[in-house]
Amino acid sequence: MARKKQRLVLRFPVGTVDEPITYTLIKEYDVMINILNADITPGREGNLLVEISGEKDSVDGAMRYLKGKSVEISPIIKTILFNQSECIHCGACASVCFPGALIMDTESRELRFSPENCVACELCIKACPLQLFELNFGVN
Ligand code: SF4
Ligand code: SF4
Repeated sequence: MARKKQRLVLRFPVGTVDEPITYTLIKEYDVMINILNADITPGREGNLLVEISGEKDSVDGAMRYLKGKSVEISPIIKTILFNQSECIHCGACASVCFPGALIMDTESRELRFSPENCVACELCIKACPLQLFELNFGVN
């Protein structure tokens, strides 16, 4: 069966913050939850940045459960920001970019970036000696 992994911001309305919602998700829906950031205060609205993974049906069931609890779900859209003007065209990032978003032009010997091919794997962030890439978290 297909597996699914999603990064989401969960906004818990007042009154649900004290409920064991993440516990229920893990126990009843058989999903894995990796909490990446949390801003939870009892008696107030709360926010969690989470990665939820599991079988597709389990993740879909978990989403329905959250919506039933009036939890607002916002998918995270990761993109890579590239400071292209500082690039020295060393090619280190292109050698790790398996989807072909970063390619060295054989004629000009310059780096070409095609954001539409980027899968936000983050490998270029570590590869660039000048640290010209950074991750941008957007929310849908
Ligand atoms: S994040 Fe991954 S896919 Fe996107 S440009 Fe960097 S190495 Fe290529
Ligand atoms: S690793 Fe950095 S400096 Fe080298 S080509 Fe890629 S973006 Fe440019």
